[in-house]
Amino acid sequence: MTDEQSKVSQDMVVGLEYTLRLDDGEVVDTSTGRGPLQFLQGHGHIIPGLEKELYGLGVGDGKAIVVSAAEGYGPRKPNAVQEFPRDAFPEGVEIQSGMAVQLTDQSGHPHMAFVQELRQETVLLDLNHPLAGETLHFDVEVVSLREATEEELAHGHVH
Ligand code: ZN
Repeated sequence: MTDEQSKVSQDMVVGLEYTLRLDDGEVVDTSTGRGPLQFLQGHGHIIPGLEKELYGLGVGDGKAIVVSAAEGYGPRKPNAVQEFPRDAFPEGVEIQSGMAVQLTDQSGHPHMAFVQELRQETVLLDLNHPLAGETLHFDVEVVSLREATEEELAHGHVH
């Protein structure tokens, strides 16, 4: 390995252990017990505010990274809270406040939403990402690094 290859750089496959906390210290996501996240650096597979802070780290390097909502999951959008008729939901499903439902958008992609409120005839769904508007506090450690294969680069993701 050359010096450059031993640091996180464009097109490297990075193995990352991470813990994500919110402002109040609540852990909302962690790789602990699941194994490191593997991704192709520089391809937007992870949120931009995290990806840009990883450049130059080597295996074994840890870093505390604070990511603003703007560089994380974006601001909460008030217009992403929308009313849906109750009969749009499959029968037999008991809809409860806070539950996650999966919608399909016009292009056929799945999209998670959360039930915010039950009304007489309708259900108010929040289509914001659950971490929208949050400042994200990451503790990360790079645990592996390798060059991507040509096939991985052509596909734009890790195999
Ligand atoms: Zn592929």
